[in-house]
Amino acid sequence: MSKGILTVISGFSGAGKGTLMKRLTRDYDNYALSVSMTTRAPREGERDGIEYFFVDTDTFQERIRQNRMLEYACYCGNYYGTPRDYVQEQLEAGKDVILEIEIQGALQIRKLIPDCLLLFVTPPSAGELKRRLEGRGTETPEVIARRLARAIEESEGVEAYDYIVINDDLEECEKRIHSIVQNAHYTSARQDALIKEIRGELKKFSKGAE
Ligand code: 5GP
Repeated sequence: MSKGILTVISGFSGAGKGTLMKRLTRDYDNYALSVSMTTRAPREGERDGIEYFFVDTDTFQERIRQNRMLEYACYCGNYYGTPRDYVQEQLEAGKDVILEIEIQGALQIRKLIPDCLLLFVTPPSAGELKRRLEGRGTETPEVIARRLARAIEESEGVEAYDYIVINDDLEECEKRIHSIVQNAHYTSARQDALIKEIRGELKKFSKGAE
């Protein structure tokens, strides 16, 4: 078990995950945000190495062959994946690492790292989701339609997640996510080493040690 907690945040496209991730890393210093690799074209304002590492399909497939992706998936015709090294380094350094990835990736992570946390962020209603996607102004109507269709598929898999977090108010939602992750540090499974140590000490005391 690693020192840091690996938290996967998924949610319908337009649920506000990107903004939430940025706020969490800005407001608390225990988080490390993994930067994914993708073959999708950058949106206006997106910078290579910040929002994503933007690469071509050949490069992405080469990374898969080299086993350098922790997980990857195809989403609406593009590859998306998590570079392995950064996540491992940060978890070992005790950081709570956040992956903002879709559901296929989330399920791969659960198999690989069973003590991860899976959080699903959703707007309060489908109508609100549609409004947010349209309001973003960066996507064509075809892309919006594809993303809404994909949202139906993703809604079928939501039960696999540990927590559903409603994003009705950004600040509240950020606080909720933070408290879920922090509470996870205190689960009995994560306190196993401490409990073993206390038990060992108690046994010594019962045998008369001072
Ligand atoms: P977008 O194109 O809107 O930035 O992202 C599309 C979807 O890809 C989102 O649901 C996002 O969570 C997901 N995604 C981003 N990075 C990764 C990744 O590294 N792996 C997987 N499996 N999904 C990702």
